[in-house]
Amino acid sequence: MLETSEKLFERAQQFIPGGVNSPARAFNSVGGSPVFFKKAKGSILTDVDGKEYIDYVGSWGPMILGHAYEPVIKAVQETAAQSTSFGAPTEIEVKMAELVKQMVPGVDKIRMVNSGTEACMSAIRVARGYTGRDKIIKFEGNYHGHADSFLINAGSGALTLGTPSSPGVTKGTAKDTLTADFNDLNSVKQLLNEYKDEVAAIIVEPVAGNIGCIPPREGFLSGLRELCDAHDTVLIFDEVMTGFRVSKGGAQERYGVSADLVTYGKIIGAGLPVGAFGGKKEVMQVVSPDGPVYQAGTLSGNPLAMAAGYALLSELQENPLHYDELEEKTTYLYTGLQEQFEDHGASVHINRVGSMISVFFTEEQVVDFTTARTTDETLFKHFYHKMLEQGIYLPPSPFESWFLANSLTEEQLDDTIQAAGQSIKSAL
Ligand code: PLP
Repeated sequence: MLETSEKLFERAQQFIPGGVNSPARAFNSVGGSPVFFKKAKGSILTDVDGKEYIDYVGSWGPMILGHAYEPVIKAVQETAAQSTSFGAPTEIEVKMAELVKQMVPGVDKIRMVNSGTEACMSAIRVARGYTGRDKIIKFEGNYHGHADSFLINAGSGALTLGTPSSPGVTKGTAKDTLTADFNDLNSVKQLLNEYKDEVAAIIVEPVAGNIGCIPPREGFLSGLRELCDAHDTVLIFDEVMTGFRVSKGGAQERYGVSADLVTYGKIIGAGLPVGAFGGKKEVMQVVSPDGPVYQAGTLSGNPLAMAAGYALLSELQENPLHYDELEEKTTYLYTGLQEQFEDHGASVHINRVGSMISVFFTEEQVVDFTTARTTDETLFKHFYHKMLEQGIYLPPSPFESWFLANSLTEEQLDDTIQAAGQSIKSAL
């Protein structure tokens, strides 16, 4: 069935590590060959063998309005005809910065980069330069990209592969990353007291998405804000997943908590390689060339990426109804899945925030890294392949969030719910 994908995967493995250009794409946790795709429209993916799938990966987030969204395609085509890069300023970069400021009022200044990793890596450098301190606090199971400082008990691909921290990260770097427990303010307080006046920043995924979707507990984010204020520590929200997704203004708007710095990726580039970091003027003023903290990029603010991101973000800005519709569709899916799993007697806990959702096969309430890890990985594996057979494309790991797109139709959601019923029945 995956004949051509399997052949391509064999070829890929000869020349590309693990046959993929990013570990989260490999089917290491579910087994088998990754599916190779050739095109997509709306919420339908077509693989290299011509089989169609309903998509819940959405390129891990960017495709919030579906694939091949026409305004994005048009913007990219028109821009490419002018030039793919100047290495000099362009008007679209200014328009993009102004638009982000309108959508997220706390972002006084923003710097474009080329990935979420770069955005997070730069944000902690800025926080360190601003405070003159070295240490950062991150949360177990949160993922902020593959920069050295973050590969300390990290989630996402690293967790999936069972290598919580990576060889190649020096002990020197590791000693400056302190790890607290998500949704547990006491663990943060303890670190801040133990390393008094040493912590430059707390970086957090305001909704954890890389151990599956885990919402913040009531008071967790506002508690982090208070602790940062009390300790003169910079609060960084990593909104690479949540930005422009859980609401127009991201998690800051949804939970009514302002960060000092915020990082973006995914949606901000509509599927082209982009990231960004921004925030309060007094912190951002240390960034070069205004200030002494060096940060740069040959292709940063690339015209194609900016044009694509601008086309998507301006649609989200002009039609906030997209968010209401996404919320309704996710609720519909949640309710349908819940019924199917209950009918078939599966122990399950489904978490969701906005259009992010994750199914954990466990009896626990999943609120943090430890409870997420109680999920039945073998059951997920069987469920995954049954869903795939029925044309439902889910993230190939139990520790990832599914991303819904507003292009999903009621029929597609119904098909998914039915398929989930069939899949759990044969997987149990
Ligand atoms: N931060 C979060 C929350 C992410 O989910 C990711 C990637 O999935 C990153 C940072 C890294 O982004 P990128 O893969 O674009 O480097």
